[in-house]
Amino acid sequence: MMKQKVNFFWFRRDLRLDDNTALFHALQSVLPVIPVFIFDDAILERLPQNDARVSFIYDSLQKINEELAKVQASILIKKGKTAEVWKSLVEEFDIQNVFFNKDYEPYAIKRDVAISALLKENNVGSFAFKDHVIFEEKEISKSDGLPYTIYTPYKNKWLEQYRILGSVAENDTQPFFANFAKNDYLFPQLSDIGFERSSIKVIPHNLSQIANYKETRDFPALDSTSYLSPHLRFGTVSIRKLVNWANRKNQTFLSELIWREFFIQILYSFPHVTNRNFKSAYDGIQWQNNEDDFNRWCSGTTGYPMVDAGMRQLNQTGYMHNRVRMVVASFLCKHLLIDWQWGEAYFAEKLLDFELASNVGNWQWAAGTGCDAAPYFRVFNPEIQLKKFDEKGIYIRKWIPEFTLGYNKPMIDHAFARERAIATYKAGILK
Ligand code: FAD
Repeated sequence: MMKQKVNFFWFRRDLRLDDNTALFHALQSVLPVIPVFIFDDAILERLPQNDARVSFIYDSLQKINEELAKVQASILIKKGKTAEVWKSLVEEFDIQNVFFNKDYEPYAIKRDVAISALLKENNVGSFAFKDHVIFEEKEISKSDGLPYTIYTPYKNKWLEQYRILGSVAENDTQPFFANFAKNDYLFPQLSDIGFERSSIKVIPHNLSQIANYKETRDFPALDSTSYLSPHLRFGTVSIRKLVNWANRKNQTFLSELIWREFFIQILYSFPHVTNRNFKSAYDGIQWQNNEDDFNRWCSGTTGYPMVDAGMRQLNQTGYMHNRVRMVVASFLCKHLLIDWQWGEAYFAEKLLDFELASNVGNWQWAAGTGCDAAPYFRVFNPEIQLKKFDEKGIYIRKWIPEFTLGYNKPMIDHAFARERAIATYKAGILK
């Protein structure tokens, strides 16, 4: 029997039907579109069985599938090594083109080059679109064409370019839903993919709570940030809609969305930042890397309430407030002299919103080794941070219930740690 010619749309970190660029283009074509998602073994094999991100991805796909059912369509879910899956798909179907949105992480770039080549060998076209950011790759560059490494001039150029556009066009996919292929693929159980449901859930996002963002966003006891980070990571919300909204309503919030793009641009232009200092002059720092100290930091038992509350919030919920992330990261690198990569890896394992570019960028910022980083001689005092940002101790008591009974002795004296950090950095920085 002749196979019907089809196009494929490949879902990856863009788990929504609404305003999805590559999907919009796929649905414009005359051929029916089969949406596919691949649970990639190369990523899954590194995760625990009850990984909260996998549960979130699974639930997001299920929601998409429910929407697709309204037009008698469904999502094809596969699991395996990505190249093997595509090899079997090109045999099973008569595919003309595959549409997907670009991903700027080094692993994804390599994977996509390999898959596009594989498709080409099988006479299948592939089309990659910008969707995850407003400006990608080299679109925001200095006048000499080099990438920006300092946030403020990057942000100014970003805003200038955005204002030239006026706003960014959103893609209304709904009118084209009839172009999905009519299918009723079986939607697997989480256990079919080899995973269990996590008890950790994504906090609902909410834009109404950021009305006073500029004044309140640094106070961890207040619910005054958007909680959009996992949604931006997995693309369950559209960055274009969010940026257009922020530009009309909240410029401080817009600046934070630009930080996200700044770090994505840094990772794209300097992929070595994932496991090396952005500034190689810092390669000579003699980290202590004491495992017992690291374990106390991980378990939230350092004796510094703000550090401990933050780590416990992370361990219990997969989330930590930004101000507290800055404090715990500084504490690990400066007070304990532990390589930022240890902390980065721990966050990568625990954060629901783990995003390689933002995680590496912010960790290197805190360690002082990154682009536009905090200067190495600035060492956050966790007690002063607590007084400034959680004066009444509401945040710390939420995460450290035993706090009212008196609290542990700090594992290291702040004044001693500060001096030691500055001396170690000074001695380690290569001239
Ligand atoms: P909001 O304050 O509502 O901000 C809105 C959005 O802006 C965020 O969702 C995020 O996409 C972006 N944003 C805000 N601050 C930053 C920032 N400093 N850098 C980049 N983007 C930002 N964010 C991640 O998404 N993934 C990470 O893996 C990550 N790791 C971090 C590690 C450290 C050491 C630090 C200090 C920060 C890290 N951040 C990371 C940035 C920031 O803490 C989170 O984006 C934020 O706390 C998420 O909560 P929210 O969505 O309520 O933030």
